[in-house]
Amino acid sequence: MIEARDVTLSFGETPALRGATLTVAEGEILAVMGPSGSGKSTLLHCLAGILVPDTGEIHFAGQRIDTLDEGARSALRRDRFGFVFQFGQLVPELTAVENVALPLLLAGTRRRTAVAEAASWFARLDLDGLQGRRSGELSGGQAQRVALARGLVAKPRVLFADEPTGSLDSLTGEHVMDLLVGAAREQGTTVVVVTHEARVAAYADREVIVRDGTVTTAVLA
Ligand code: ADP
Ligand code: ADP
Repeated sequence: MIEARDVTLSFGETPALRGATLTVAEGEILAVMGPSGSGKSTLLHCLAGILVPDTGEIHFAGQRIDTLDEGARSALRRDRFGFVFQFGQLVPELTAVENVALPLLLAGTRRRTAVAEAASWFARLDLDGLQGRRSGELSGGQAQRVALARGLVAKPRVLFADEPTGSLDSLTGEHVMDLLVGAAREQGTTVVVVTHEARVAAYADREVIVRDGTVTTAVLA
């Protein structure tokens, strides 16, 4: 489904990736682990077409994507990928349901349809009654579930999650992961989740470890 082939990327003098190779199968839930600063986020940003490698290749669904121009990569992210980050990054001026509807509106869905589709996620993610709240009025766990709904609402082929539970206590984090994995499996979404928490990685089908900018495979015990 998505693949990095011998990818290198440096920020100025700082090498972040040094020959990273990784294949993620369709429908797979993959955890990317490793120490802080090892290159996990950079790898995720390359797979998602946010960053372009210095050398190497990124392939998605049989197509090479690192050579596409910014406009084409941006369209690919909008149409095929969903994102969840550590700090929900909800738009504070919008209500929770408007935040979830955003990817649909950006894809050209009519407002009424988009809001109805967004609202249907609230019951699925234990967010009943919170549609009208603004992000400042949500708890951390609620905000992350709203961010998760936003990441999944457009039925992406791949969901990229970067420390999606990193700002939460472990019980709340497990609840978010439980819902993330359940919803992804239900709609067949491939998931790449960056985490440094073994409890979060335990939800994945497979885990890999990034060390000094390269990927090491690890088999789940
Ligand atoms: P991880 O996600 O494993 O913590 P990152 O991919 O964020 O690691 O970072 C890998 C290395 O690249 C680190 O040394 C980090 O400081 C550096 N780095 C990441 N992003 C940038 C950036 N935008 N500018 C400069 N250096 C960066
Ligand atoms: P993570 O470990 O999840 O990458 P960080 O706190 O390392 O989280 O990075 C947060 C953001 O800052 C990322 O977008 C990353 O690209 C950027 N970043 C990381 N390290 C540096 C750096 N040394 N200089 C500039 N930007 C950085």
